[in-house]
Amino acid sequence: MGEEINNSSDTISEDPKIHVRYYGVRGSIPTPLKPVEIEQKCKRIIAEIIKNDKFRGQKLREIFNAVPIHLKSTYGGNTPCVLVKTAGHTIIIDAGSGIRNLGIDLMQQEFGQGKGKAIFLFSHTHWDHIQGLPFFTPLFIPGNQFEFYSCFPDLKERLKGQQDSRYFPIGMDYMQAEKQFFLLKSNESKDFGKFTIKTIKLDHPGSAYGYKIEIDGKSFLYSSDLEFNEKNYDTMPEIIEFFKGADVLTFDSQYTLAESFTKIDWGHSSIQIGIDIANHSGIKKIVLFHYDPTYSDQKINEITEIGLSYKKAIYPGSDLEVIPSYEGLELEI
Ligand SMILES: [Zn+2]
Ligand SMILES: [Zn+2]
Repeated sequence: MGEEINNSSDTISEDPKIHVRYYGVRGSIPTPLKPVEIEQKCKRIIAEIIKNDKFRGQKLREIFNAVPIHLKSTYGGNTPCVLVKTAGHTIIIDAGSGIRNLGIDLMQQEFGQGKGKAIFLFSHTHWDHIQGLPFFTPLFIPGNQFEFYSCFPDLKERLKGQQDSRYFPIGMDYMQAEKQFFLLKSNESKDFGKFTIKTIKLDHPGSAYGYKIEIDGKSFLYSSDLEFNEKNYDTMPEIIEFFKGADVLTFDSQYTLAESFTKIDWGHSSIQIGIDIANHSGIKKIVLFHYDPTYSDQKINEITEIGLSYKKAIYPGSDLEVIPSYEGLELEI
């Protein structure tokens, strides 16, 4: 699943690249695989190998490499969390349940010695985007420094609220790392020296915000939890302008197109609308994200295939790359 991201801030401080790793890609609620699903995967792999002559005489590794991800593995059931590293900075977008595994990885680095620094960006505070924070070990280590950014003036109270003793045994004050909170404004760009972070308001119940991280003409977009319907199509030009020319767009693909018509005002999108927006914005790669918890790996694979057919039919000749996110997916921009 790709190479390890270089985590030494000394060696990559001049690195103009953007390194991305997905730790949680599921929407709404953590969705572990059911035992019966694992059983079905095993049966289907065995059946494929038995019936397929091309595997005869091949090494186990070669056979495994040939099996698609939805069969041999899983896209993942953890809720949103994406790690972005650029110019020696560590940026964590959203703190869904995927952040627990990110915390385990970071503890192997300077965060384990209380010498880590990271920036948090919160799209919004629906539970699936903050529920992993109490399990993020680096926050418990004195000496680590975290800057929390969002467009919500009361972000601190919101995060503290989920660790109220009525809901969680350990309060946020018990987490001894240094925590500073900063307010971002929609449509404004914040300068972090070598890179910038720009935000945009997205249509979603209670509001959500998208982020564009830019360095040296390269850009990564995180746009989860947004909906387009007849009430807000007039905001489309502004969104397209914000997205324009980005290398990677991480996009809310919670529903199929058919489901999106039955769930108006639920706050989510489909792969087709993502592909439409990406094509009109000149995006190079769209990464499907925030899958509905009812979707099996098989279904996510089918949805991706439908997306590719849609792109081919509606935008023949388009260079847009369409890929599904999965836990452990790494991108370099
Ligand atoms: Zn969500
Ligand atoms: Zn939401």
